[in-house]
Amino acid sequence: MTSKPAAGKPATAAARATVYGYPRQGQGRELKKAIEGYWKGRVTADALRATAAELRRTNWRRLAEAGVDEVPTGDFSFYDHVLDTTVMVGAVPDRHRGAVAADPLDGYFAMARGTQDVAPLEMTKWFDTNYHYLVPELGPDTVFAADSTQQVGELREALALGLTARPVLVGPVTYLLLAKPAPGAPADFEPLALLDRLLPVYAEVLADLRAAGAEWVQLDEPALVQDRTPDELDAAARAYRGLGTRTDRPRLLVASYFDRLGDALPVLAEAPVDGLALDFTGAAEANLDALAAVGGLPGRRLVAGVVDGRNVWINDLARSLTTLGTLLGLADRVDVAASCSLLHVPLDAAAERDIAPGIVRWLAFARQKSAEIVTLARGLAHGTDAIAAELAANRADLASRAGSPITRDPAVRARAGAVTEADARRPEPYPERAAAQRAHLGLPLLPTTTIGSFPQTGELRTARADLRAGRLDTAGYEERIRAEIREVVSFQERAGLDVLVHGEAERNDMVQYFAEQLTGYLATRHGWVQSYGTRYVRPPILAGDISRPEPMTVRWTTFAQSLTARPVKGMLTGPVTMLAWSFVRDDQPLGDTARQVALALRDEVNDLEAAGTSVIQVDEPALRETLPLRAADRAGYLAWATEAFRLTTGGVRPDTQIHTHMCYAEFGDVVRAIDDLDADVISLEAARSHMQVARELAAHGYPREAGPGVYDIHSPRVPSAGEAADLLRTGLRAIPAERLWVNPDCGLKTRGWAETRASLESLVTAARTVRGEL
Ligand code: GLN
Ligand code: ZN
Repeated sequence: MTSKPAAGKPATAAARATVYGYPRQGQGRELKKAIEGYWKGRVTADALRATAAELRRTNWRRLAEAGVDEVPTGDFSFYDHVLDTTVMVGAVPDRHRGAVAADPLDGYFAMARGTQDVAPLEMTKWFDTNYHYLVPELGPDTVFAADSTQQVGELREALALGLTARPVLVGPVTYLLLAKPAPGAPADFEPLALLDRLLPVYAEVLADLRAAGAEWVQLDEPALVQDRTPDELDAAARAYRGLGTRTDRPRLLVASYFDRLGDALPVLAEAPVDGLALDFTGAAEANLDALAAVGGLPGRRLVAGVVDGRNVWINDLARSLTTLGTLLGLADRVDVAASCSLLHVPLDAAAERDIAPGIVRWLAFARQKSAEIVTLARGLAHGTDAIAAELAANRADLASRAGSPITRDPAVRARAGAVTEADARRPEPYPERAAAQRAHLGLPLLPTTTIGSFPQTGELRTARADLRAGRLDTAGYEERIRAEIREVVSFQERAGLDVLVHGEAERNDMVQYFAEQLTGYLATRHGWVQSYGTRYVRPPILAGDISRPEPMTVRWTTFAQSLTARPVKGMLTGPVTMLAWSFVRDDQPLGDTARQVALALRDEVNDLEAAGTSVIQVDEPALRETLPLRAADRAGYLAWATEAFRLTTGGVRPDTQIHTHMCYAEFGDVVRAIDDLDADVISLEAARSHMQVARELAAHGYPREAGPGVYDIHSPRVPSAGEAADLLRTGLRAIPAERLWVNPDCGLKTRGWAETRASLESLVTAARTVRGEL
């Protein structure tokens, strides 16, 4: 045991345990049920509010019982905490003002989800997590007005339980940096220009919180861990000078997480605030040296995020104690926390009865992380002797994980270690392959295809639920899937599509389906995390070395191929997406994990080819969203990410055509990487942006075949053949006919059959019309 801080006497008696936020949903996802019940008119507003208040109390009590000294308030939300901030600062968009005035709760949900007549706020990813927030819309005319009702109310609830509570707010700089120009505002309007107008509103909320009994208030500024311009850093300095020099305020703790602060660290360290909360996990460990370099925070409070708040693994307590010990010299008082809100992890690993108890011991969800934080705070305050039992148990659990055959499979490691540059390269250059594929596939110009999934109907979901519940046997379920494939294939033939798909009827989810079949992945039963609003996902846990015991998709694809003479495209989820939508292991570089997944998928690609599949699509919708927050880290990421894709697809013949798919329209910053994938064909979202991607690809000299979507699958609207043809003509101005594909924006799993049929018929008609014009 080498934890220096406190082998003997207490290093500091003041170390406290705290968290920034806790999962909102409740153990039985009670919040989701109450909110959706309210939307359907089955739950009254009062009942919804009572459920919410009860969940908050349960969470606070649970934290307090675990020994957390200071609980967060204001982290709860009916939908999203950024939307709550919009309400707090009075920045309700004009189009929602009427609804909010008529009924604040309904108006709130209208901003989140839209109504028949009014569009919702846009939703986007919260930094590099899988949580989505509602984007504030601000313009030169925005008038802010403080509304501290929710913040003050929740603080009072926690104080009434006799707890020490610290309100947590989205900070003003991050709020503005996350906003976009309101409709009607000049496109180059920068919301940060509103800072001086926003600060008095924050000052008022802070004063209200202090009056209500808050000693400390936390302002979260995660936007400062991204690359920021000197002007933006000046704005941050001005913001905290402005708030810090007021006399009617509580003590201020400015928090950042998800990465290192870089140039923003000296800015915050110089600000007249009372403490900083910093991330010391992963790449953010660099905060340690940076903090020392500015001379620490003498006379102030440091909250040290040493427990990873975004992953599900137990902490290395001894290692964290060493970090904490180093930090002790750098501040007046050092408290212990997770790196970020626990919103991003599931609630309680102890609820996972299907995972072997020995493996559950490796896992820490929100509840276990709270306990780790408390243990670390005790160790810091009272010395390692005070937590000897916890340290011993932690050592044993870490050793059990490190030594487990799940974690280390010699065969997988040997194979990954033997990978050469050549394995991740198709030997024939792209133009040569394109010619071979043209001869082999014999497709018309402007070939038509889809992105993979067809409607996941209620019947399919019911069949899967019946299979799980034992009401349907495997044979019965598989017959059901085959019937669906027959239907999907015969529809595509009738509609006249050129490259068919089997429709993905058997897949519950594009990551989970594969995770369930790969060795090394764990599935949870209750491991829900909020994606947005009432939508929760259960990411699989990539726990160990990855291998593929048997083919995963081959029989469905070959069954579909047996029904038609046209090529059926095989359909796989790519290695980067398999990582991005899972909890990943923290005991080796991500690139190593990606390489293992790639090798498992490579076996599947090769088996598909051997079974007669000539077109294979490997979806990578997560390639861009996994991009590191800081530009300096991106080249390293893209190097392993593209290598993993090439390793997946690099073992096929030149006349086998590799497709990839990504579901977004802005990708200027990764276009080089997309070319580096060395795929033969890429399909992308483009319908809403009028083929903008086609122009971007052309501008970057992208040399390969591409299918910018001509059918927006995010809406039930059926495009006419005329408008699809117009989009195609627009696409042709950027991409020559020899390289242009015709397809929808994305998969059709969320659509109904009626609109799918009509839309694909339009798409085929459009392709035929435009072919006739060539
Ligand atoms: N092949 C998948 C589908 O069609 C792709 C989904 C996605 O890109 N998100 O559903
Ligand atoms: Zn997609």
